[in-house]
Amino acid sequence: QMASYSGSEQGVHLADVPSSAIRTCETLQKAGYKAFIVGGGVRDLLLGLKPKDFDVATDATPEEVTRLFRRSRLIGRRFQIVHVMHGRETIEVSTFRALRNDADTDEHGRVLRDNVWGTQAEDAARRDFTINALYYDPVADLILDWHDGVKDIHRRVIRMIGDPATRYREDPIRMLRTARFAAKTGFAVEEATRAPIRELAPLIHNIPAARLFDEMLKLLQSGHSLESLQQLRNEGLHHGLLPLLDVILEQPDGERFIHVALTRTDERVLEGKSVSPGFLFATLLWQQVRVRWNERVSRGEPSIPALHAAIDTVVDEQSEKLAIQKRIIADMREIWALQPRFGRRTGAAPFRLLEHLRFRAGYDFMILRCDAGEAAAELGAWWTRFIDADGPTRQQLLEQAP
Ligand code: ATP
Ligand code: MG
Repeated sequence: QMASYSGSEQGVHLADVPSSAIRTCETLQKAGYKAFIVGGGVRDLLLGLKPKDFDVATDATPEEVTRLFRRSRLIGRRFQIVHVMHGRETIEVSTFRALRNDADTDEHGRVLRDNVWGTQAEDAARRDFTINALYYDPVADLILDWHDGVKDIHRRVIRMIGDPATRYREDPIRMLRTARFAAKTGFAVEEATRAPIRELAPLIHNIPAARLFDEMLKLLQSGHSLESLQQLRNEGLHHGLLPLLDVILEQPDGERFIHVALTRTDERVLEGKSVSPGFLFATLLWQQVRVRWNERVSRGEPSIPALHAAIDTVVDEQSEKLAIQKRIIADMREIWALQPRFGRRTGAAPFRLLEHLRFRAGYDFMILRCDAGEAAAELGAWWTRFIDADGPTRQQLLEQAP
């Protein structure tokens, strides 16, 4: 049973939608196709939040879409979608899809292949939550809703479309998404949506590592990372889920640091700033590095080689389960390896450190260590002054350094 609403009556106004998204819909509609803004963009507009991005769904095939837009390209092999470029903005256009009844699944019910075109109603039904399955036509000022998503927005609940247990089996990553959207919206998770998670939590292990990593990164960069992790813990999803999460949530000595780091991260995201994955994972895994580093030093190893050996151990442990990209690992290593250098405040060393390409990230990380009480506040304050000081003041600072 499809419901429809006037967008403006629901508080969705054209002025909040980028012209790139509107023009994409207009062009498709003028060519005789259906075209709607869909998913997170519509949800966030209804919630009065600023959407991260706008996706468009259409009944045109990817080839038909590319023929309509000069600046567009086909992306992906399994599901082809089209990126339409307007100036610096990219709109992701996907064709209505259906979940086939006879889809290939593994022995737990996980869907392995579901690439068939479908009707708009089928496209709505294959989405995860009712609030993520709303279609907004900016030209007609209309919201189409097959699953009472608008009501759920007003009731402030996260509700899975269809039978939740089946939907989690089809794609266990949805369990993480439940936690992420609950944290992001502050909505309650409907009981039937919440109930199966505890039992099905082990299915998370069947998710390909790269996808798991992407979803974890979204969660951590959501601006609500602390609440999201709390949700995972409440749902029993953290245990053995990722070595990383065990580290974050079950290591009392690192708790202060992680807490400060994630609070900072959330603040940055909510201010519209970016948080690099390398920095993020460097903070999350730092306590692991420290523990191993200290062990080696207390066995008599020299400090710097001990740090590098500790870093190697932690990186190896994590990459076994979590597909962290090489580039991100390289960033993490660099940020960690810079830390002892902040302690050297004589001669040319501080000047050389200032010139390091990754100085800024290393400095931000060091400040975090100070804020968490792990490094002396004096050290952070010294560097903060040193960065902006003129030549004579720098000399003075060098003489005053402990
Ligand atoms: P965000 O603001 O974090 O981008 P979003 O709702 O846009 O939130 P995406 O991961 O970008 O989330 O996905 C876009 C849309 O695709 C979702 O709103 C949902 O309708 C659908 N979707 C994404 N992942 C799944 C999934 N695992 N199962 C079912 N539907 C999904
Ligand atoms: Mg999105």
